[in-house]
Amino acid sequence: MKEDPAMTTTTAAGTSHTNARGTNGSQKLRNFVQGKMSESKTTKYLPIMNPSIGEQIGEVPLSTADDLDAAVRAARSALPAWSAMPIKERVQITFRYRSISEKYSDELTALVHEENGKILSESKAEIDKSIEVAEFACSMPQLISGEILEVSKGVECRIDRYPVGVVASITPFNFPNMVPNWTIPNALVLGNTMILKPSELVPLSAMRLAEILQEAGLPDGVFNVVNGGQEVVEAICDHPGIDALTFVGSTRVAKIVYQRATSHLKRALCLGGAKNHLIVLPDAHEEMAATNIAASMSGCAGQRCMAASAMVGVGAIDHIVKRLCEEAKKIVPGENLGAVISKAAKERIERYITEAEKEGAKILVDGRGAMVKGKENGYYVGPTVIDYVRPEMKIAKEEVFGPVLSIMRTKTVDEAIAIENANPYGNAASVFTQSGGAARYVAERASAGMIGVNIGVPVPREPFSFGGWNESKFGAGDITGKSSIEFFTKPKKTTIKWNPESRVGWMS
Ligand code: NAD
Repeated sequence: MKEDPAMTTTTAAGTSHTNARGTNGSQKLRNFVQGKMSESKTTKYLPIMNPSIGEQIGEVPLSTADDLDAAVRAARSALPAWSAMPIKERVQITFRYRSISEKYSDELTALVHEENGKILSESKAEIDKSIEVAEFACSMPQLISGEILEVSKGVECRIDRYPVGVVASITPFNFPNMVPNWTIPNALVLGNTMILKPSELVPLSAMRLAEILQEAGLPDGVFNVVNGGQEVVEAICDHPGIDALTFVGSTRVAKIVYQRATSHLKRALCLGGAKNHLIVLPDAHEEMAATNIAASMSGCAGQRCMAASAMVGVGAIDHIVKRLCEEAKKIVPGENLGAVISKAAKERIERYITEAEKEGAKILVDGRGAMVKGKENGYYVGPTVIDYVRPEMKIAKEEVFGPVLSIMRTKTVDEAIAIENANPYGNAASVFTQSGGAARYVAERASAGMIGVNIGVPVPREPFSFGGWNESKFGAGDITGKSSIEFFTKPKKTTIKWNPESRVGWMS
C-alpha cells in the first residue's frame, strides 16, 4: 500500500468523516452508547490532529461523568442477556468481528496512520495483531471448558467461570486499534459488557471499532465508547456500576488509576510506561544485533512500550555500535519512520537529546530538526543514537518515547544487569549474544516481565500473555492471552452430592 492514500470514508462516528487528505477539520465526534452515536453533554472539545502533516482532522468531546453514567446504564442493562448467552454464540459474533475487521483492514490501517502518524506498514501490522487477538478469543470455549473432579466418594466439585460484569478499558495513544483490542474480544467473549475510553489523541479508530462490532451483530449496550480525558477516567474509577477496569498508559497515570479504582474495591489491572534495556555482548551476531536494535528503537517512532530505549554494551562492542549507526541512518522520516504524536512530544524528545549532549554524551546519529518535504508541519524526529550515556543522566533514567537510543558501556555483564535492575520499570529487556549460557544468565537476572534473546521487541503472542513487572504494571496477572481469563472472569466452585448413600463427613 502507498503512503497517504487518498481515501474517503463516511461513518456514523462523527458529523462528517472525511479521512485525512480531504479533511476540513470539521469532524465532531460523539460517544457510542446503547448502539447509537450520542452527543456528549460537554461543551469542551479538543482538536484531533494528523501528526504526519500537523493538521486538525476533527474534534473530540471531553465527556462528563453524566455521559459515563449513561454508558454504564447501557452496559448494565445489556449484561444479563449477554452473559446468559452461550459462549459459542458470543464466539460467532467475535468471529464475524474478526472477519469484518479483516475485510476493512485497509481502511482501519489508514485510520491508524491518519490519527497516530505511524507509517502504513506499521499501521497494518497493528490491525493484523488486533485480528490475531480476536482469533484467540474465538478459542475461549476450548480454554475455559471448566474442571470437574470426584473429590470424595460420591461427591464432585466443578468450576465454572462467570463474567466479572461491566468492565472499562482505558487506552493510550500509541496503538489506537491494537490496545483496545487487547481487551475487547476477550472481555466480550467471556460474557462481560464494556465501556472503552480511548485516548483523546486518537479516538477515530475506537469509534470505528464500535461500528464494526455492531455490524458483526453485537447487541446494543454490550460495547460502548465514551470519549474524553481525566474527568471520564476518574468517573470510571469511582462509578459503582463498573466492576473492573484495565488501563494502559504512562506509569504516572497508571498509579493514580490503580489506587483510585481499587479504593472503590474494583478489580484493576494498570499497565504503565517502560524503559527497556538491551544488553549487548561482544559475541553478538553483528548484523542481527544491529538490525534488531535499530528496528526496536525506531519502530512506531519509538512510541512503543516495548521499544529499545537503553542499550548497555559490555566490553568491546564498537563494531556493533558502528553497524547500528549505519542501520539507523537508513531510517528516514516520512519514508520508513513515522511522525511522533504531537508537537509537544517532538519538543520533549529533542530536549532529552540536547540535555544529554550538554551532560557530555556523544550524539552519533542526530534526529533533531527532522523535516519531511511537503509535510513541513508534521511532527518528525529522526533516529538518534547517543553513546557514552551514564546511568545517572536524565535520558538514561526516564522514558523518552521517541526514536532515541542511549548507549551505556560497562566492563562486565553483572554491571550491565545492575543498570537494568536499577531502573524502576520492568516491561521488557533483551540480551544479544551467541552464547546460550550468557543469554540464560542475563534472562534469569533481568528484572522485567518480557525477555528477548536476540530480539529487540520481545512481545509474547497469543496464547502467551502480555505484561511487565515493577512500575510497568500494577495489579495481578497479565492483560492478554490465557491470563486474561483470570482477569475477565470469576470462578464459581460447586460441590455436588446426589447419592444419599454417600457418607456425611466434615469434608462432605
Ligand atoms: P497517558 O497515561 O497520558 O494516557 C493514557 C490514558 O489515560 C488516556 O486514555 C488518557 O486520556 C488518560 N489520562 C491521561 N492523564 C490522566 C489523568 N491525569 N487522570 C486520569 N486519566 C488520564 O499515556 P499516553 O501518553 O496516551 O501513552 C503513552 C504511555 O503509555 C507510555 O508511557 C507507554 O509506555 C505506555 N504504554 C504502555 C503499554 C504497556 O503495555 N505497558 C502499552 C502501550 C503504552
